[in-house]
Amino acid sequence: MTDTCEETVTRLHRSFEAGVSRPLAWRREQLGRMKRMVTAHRKDIEHAVYLDLGKPAAETALMEIKLVLDEIKFVEPRIERWSRRHHTAMPLLMQPASSWTIAEPKGVVLVISPWNYPLMLSLEPMADAIAAGNCVCLKPSELSPNTSELMERLIYKYLDPRAFAVVQGAVPETTELLKQPFDHIFYTGNGKVGSIVMEAAAKQLTPVTLELGGKSPVFVDASANLDVAAGRIAWGRFTNAGQTCVAPDYVLTTPELVEPLAEKIAAFAQKFFGDNPAKSASYGRIVNTKQFDRLARLLPADGKAFSGGETNRELLYIAPTILTDVRPDDPVMQEEIFGPILPILAVHNAHEAVTFINKRPKPLALYVFTRSKSTRLLFERHTSSGALGFNLPLGHLLSSRLPFGGIGASGMGSYHGKSGFLEFSHVKTVTSKPMFPDTLRLAYPPYRLGNSH
Ligand code: NAD
Repeated sequence: MTDTCEETVTRLHRSFEAGVSRPLAWRREQLGRMKRMVTAHRKDIEHAVYLDLGKPAAETALMEIKLVLDEIKFVEPRIERWSRRHHTAMPLLMQPASSWTIAEPKGVVLVISPWNYPLMLSLEPMADAIAAGNCVCLKPSELSPNTSELMERLIYKYLDPRAFAVVQGAVPETTELLKQPFDHIFYTGNGKVGSIVMEAAAKQLTPVTLELGGKSPVFVDASANLDVAAGRIAWGRFTNAGQTCVAPDYVLTTPELVEPLAEKIAAFAQKFFGDNPAKSASYGRIVNTKQFDRLARLLPADGKAFSGGETNRELLYIAPTILTDVRPDDPVMQEEIFGPILPILAVHNAHEAVTFINKRPKPLALYVFTRSKSTRLLFERHTSSGALGFNLPLGHLLSSRLPFGGIGASGMGSYHGKSGFLEFSHVKTVTSKPMFPDTLRLAYPPYRLGNSH
């Protein structure tokens, strides 16, 4: 496509105004086509994501392709129900009258996606936007060029070209795109760019969804089954070589558990990826040298890791690494790690863990491994995060029945399933009163009732 950003967005607005994307049958048809597109090109997708991220095909199949197909499967049969009028009663004073709400599409939506799950984080929001009846402009990440180019080719081939556009590019192109009028902007990525997106949106009063990141903590107490906790933490942290927005970022546990837990997590990493993870077909790579260098700086300067710590810049390889000798003011605790490094820090009890977490920006996810009911309640009531998982990292990401999103520094708004449908809809209030009897005239001035005081 050689159109300018302005021409592209104007074209989408014309299609929306002409009503192209509104009919429920059209929405279902597009979702069906998206499903066929992803199913028919599974292998191409797995290959493109592998070229971009060194991601194992099985991870792409489970965490990208399956999640997109699950989302389509969940929303498609529900569009009709979610789009219906929802009637509600009017106050007595207004009677006789009726009222209802109706979800209408917002219009033309911009989806800006990142590189770490390049397919899933583009097509899932697109599926929700289609379900709600919008036209969509996708700006995939320049850092996953193979997947971004494949998506462009497939979207133009499979979906209605009147209602969709893909704009490739990095900062200059995105900056230009953000000057265009959109009815909603859905951004996934880091918080710094999130505020750039929000500033651009503010100029045109465009609503935004910001799916950001941050440090997602884990707390493990003595009542937890340490083997189970260690396996699940290792899986959550080392999938996609740690480049998952809701991956466990650091672990807090009581002093006597630091070593045994670190040992068990290291043992799981070895079970997953063998003695030399660099040779494992199940272990991913860091996306590029910029991210590699950033992560290498987070490793201890003296090279002393509890386990792992090996790196190879040429291969963009960082071994699954566990750090136990970590202080809260170390560099690794100052930013989202977003790589296969897991610090474990000691706290004396659950209350101290809560204080530690609450002193920092609100996380996208928080995971607590415990069998104690009171500890569960403590975290549920006294911490705030996009999601809270008891004994289960990443689980909420996999369900279309649950809203997915952050709070504070980890984002605003949510999507997946119905919450995605609503995020891309305007829920319009409609009221209706018959001409007769004209009871509203009781409220007209001059007022007959005296002052109430
Ligand atoms: P990225 O570098 O691919 O950037 C994301 C998008 O922003 C890209 O499309 C990019 O082109 C665009 N962009 C970059 N700079 C820009 C600028 N100056 N102006 C306008 N647009 C710009 O991805 P990233 O930000 O490195 O992604 C990693 C971050 O995203 C992590 O913090 C991670 O936690 C977060 N993340 C969050 C979620 C979520 O669902 N909440 C999912 C994945 C990743």
